[in-house]
Amino acid sequence: MRVVLLGAPGAGKGTQCKRIVDRYGVSHLSSGDILRRNRSEGTELGNKAKSYMDAGALVPDDLVVAMMVEAIKEVSDKGFVLDGFPRTVNQAEELDKTLAENGESIDLVLNLQIDDQIVMQRMTGRRSCPKCGAVYHIENLKPKVDGICDKDGTELIQRPDDKPEVVENRLQTYHRQTEPVVDYYRRDNRVYDVDAGKSVDRTSEEIYGKLDALVST
Ligand SMILES: [Zn+2]
Repeated sequence: MRVVLLGAPGAGKGTQCKRIVDRYGVSHLSSGDILRRNRSEGTELGNKAKSYMDAGALVPDDLVVAMMVEAIKEVSDKGFVLDGFPRTVNQAEELDKTLAENGESIDLVLNLQIDDQIVMQRMTGRRSCPKCGAVYHIENLKPKVDGICDKDGTELIQRPDDKPEVVENRLQTYHRQTEPVVDYYRRDNRVYDVDAGKSVDRTSEEIYGKLDALVST
């Protein structure tokens, strides 16, 4: 199973990824984790990436692809789900090219679809406890007393990441960058659209249905 998981921020990508890994025993390859690991282990690729990041620049596509391909090679017989990668059409093309050299390809792209409005509601409604890290929601998961943590009585805060202008910004970046990637995979019918606007469990069910069929073929 060689799967890419795409979806807007707030679509529940992290949770679904974890569930896929648990159910099918595939490896979770997150571009963020892999970049951090390469940097901390001081690999050649990691050091190159570091020099860009230290200069405040984006890590170039070829470097990101090289790191991901290396990670894929380590797990290739087990299968994998890619998370946070490919982020651009160029990365998707490079990935296809490199996999094809080994006679491999991406089997399926799961595209978690969700309205921006629902994402805004989900994310900007979150309130967190700065002391214990508990997360609440002003509509869906209210604390017993408004604005106060159930566990330790600490006043809840809205994390900077959950502020409306920040969420709005991330959504725009997503639409601009990642939607062309979805369109790229759509061209040869590799995309399976999943409605991520319902409950987390309903979304999982839909994903399992598709992946179970993939595994059994
Ligand atoms: Zn607390």
